[in-house]
Amino acid sequence: MNEVIAGIDIGGTKVAVALETLGGERIASRRLPTEVEIGAPAIVENISRAIEEILGENQVELVSIGIGCPSPLDIEKGLVMSPSNLQDWDNFPIVQLFAERFNVPVALDNDANTAALGEYVYGAGRGYQNIIYITVSTGIGGGIIINGEIFHGVSAGAGELGHTIVQPDGIRCNCGSVGCLETICAGIHIARRARERLANGESSLLHEMAANIGEVTAKTVVEAVRRKDKLAVEIWEETCRFLAIGIANSISLLAPEAVIIGGGIAAATGDMLFMPLRQLLPQFVSMIPAEKINVLPAELGSESGVCGALVLAKKVYSNAYQIYAV
Ligand SMILES: [Zn+2]
Repeated sequence: MNEVIAGIDIGGTKVAVALETLGGERIASRRLPTEVEIGAPAIVENISRAIEEILGENQVELVSIGIGCPSPLDIEKGLVMSPSNLQDWDNFPIVQLFAERFNVPVALDNDANTAALGEYVYGAGRGYQNIIYITVSTGIGGGIIINGEIFHGVSAGAGELGHTIVQPDGIRCNCGSVGCLETICAGIHIARRARERLANGESSLLHEMAANIGEVTAKTVVEAVRRKDKLAVEIWEETCRFLAIGIANSISLLAPEAVIIGGGIAAATGDMLFMPLRQLLPQFVSMIPAEKINVLPAELGSESGVCGALVLAKKVYSNAYQIYAV
């Protein structure tokens, strides 16, 4: 029977599942709603059934599983701690449950690290050894690949670019610190900054574009930037500037061959984001020649996480992955 591996990418709204042969041939991909309200065990049950269905339909044998999941995790113990978008997942033994259900080795990593790994192996990071991956979306996540491996650091806490501090007198972040990059540049905070200025009575197309101020989202702001609305353009320029500061600090620290930017906001804005970043970064990074600063859009879109989960599965199968549980 053909041996296959499974990649699972668990997000706040959707779960992506993919099965591949060890040779890299995709057998099947599924997307399921996460249905956070049904609770962690029921979600694992739904994912397991989807995998079992695919295995039955294709007459293949599962040999390992890789999982990407929102932080915080204890990846050595295989636990999901308490992600803000997955309530009731406190100390949830996700690795043990999948390992017992399928009797295969299972590896867990955070969703930004798996996305980084996916882009590194299959996407914009192909051919490089050292990359920084950043997701600009509802939140800001990051992953670091050094010499072809995810760099985890102490407590697997490395790569949290969204929680590097860029505005010490700014607002408090969900993580407890003040002025994290995420508190300015994450989608929810782009919307918040716009709403605060609208509530102060500033004029803007945004007043007409949303039913009320509370309905303004990052997407509305981006649309207003395209329509050259002054307030939205100012919010966007500030977003790009702070993002450039955060990325520049990481570049100065690690001097990666490429910085790859993914996530919903990066995908939706494209040149609107990359052009100012490419202009600003050489101004903020003094020790690396401008032509060596390489900022690239992610290539795999919403597939980067599940692709990275497949890479994890392959690593845990070949025993090449050090942090895993069975
Ligand atoms: Zn933070």
